Amino acid sequence: MKILVVGGAGYIGSHMVKKLALTGHEVVTLDNLSRGYEDAVKYGEFVHGNLGDKNLLNTLFSKHRFDAVMHFAAFIEVGESVTEPGMYYHNNVCNTQVLLDAMVSHDIEHFVFSSTAAIFGEPQYTPIDEAHPKNPINPYGRSKLMVEQMLEDYDRAYGLKSTCLRYFNAAGADPEGELGERHNPESHLIPLILQAASGRREAISIFGRDYPTDDGTCVRDYVHINDLCDAHSLALEKMQKSGDSARYNLGNGKGFSVQQVIDAVKRIADNEFKVIHAERRAGDPAVLVADSALAKQALGWTPRFEQLETIIETAWQWEITFFSR
Ligand code: UDP
Repeated sequence: MKILVVGGAGYIGSHMVKKLALTGHEVVTLDNLSRGYEDAVKYGEFVHGNLGDKNLLNTLFSKHRFDAVMHFAAFIEVGESVTEPGMYYHNNVCNTQVLLDAMVSHDIEHFVFSSTAAIFGEPQYTPIDEAHPKNPINPYGRSKLMVEQMLEDYDRAYGLKSTCLRYFNAAGADPEGELGERHNPESHLIPLILQAASGRREAISIFGRDYPTDDGTCVRDYVHINDLCDAHSLALEKMQKSGDSARYNLGNGKGFSVQQVIDAVKRIADNEFKVIHAERRAGDPAVLVADSALAKQALGWTPRFEQLETIIETAWQWEITFFSR
């Protein structure tokens, strides 16, 4: 197939581009490099541009006959979305709508969308399945839910088929060492701890030790980036065969606390580093764990990186090779 990966220069997108290319697909990446890196696009054609640029999309869609579009190009920082909501609604919602309209006018029928656990808001129960109420508590989560809702309307009106994949905590790196996580500034737990372990950062702060969990720190569901990419490929195949839109929650189904992640990094890096006990971060639920039974059953998805240690090991290899170059 010929697939357009929007946001293919980012963390998840770049791993997806690699997977698609290595499984025999023709891939084109569209990315404006606002958060991504051109050198992360190791396969296929790269187009530098904005997903909200209607003329560019028309040119691209006239030049290539795409079978599907995968969309990873969004701003993802919860805190930033609270202080800069306009930026989030503009990029994550308005620009996505321009992309969808261009797809409709060029008869591209299949869309895979990077959604997020943030659409659920404060968990009412755990693990979180697809039926869980959707009450996002920040502009980031709301922007993603708006696109999910827009997609339902576009399916009904224009027959655009979509699969929304709600990631819990994407983690790890390409086991072959070619790609990894490179957010700037970095805000995610695992890369920050790895920076502390490698000496690129002085310390890691634990945001809150008074949560109602076993050790008082927040529990999250870390899912390996390659497992997420597998789910995208399976979801696209399934959607093309069935002709139906779908939504799936993607996680490992196992929760690990911030303290457990820090302890695992200490074991893997065989290193001690400074840990600071900081205040809670606003908007953090105590526990976020996915129920991915539907994805497993409907897509035949089997996460291959089930152990937290294995996930962290891939990210640690990236940290000590890429950043010491
Ligand atoms: N966290 C932390 N210190 C940090 C960064 C994150 O204690 O420097 C915690 C955060 O409060 C959350 C968990 O680690 O409970 C995962 O945060 P991350 O930002 O990686 O992902 P999120 O769960 O917000 O999507």
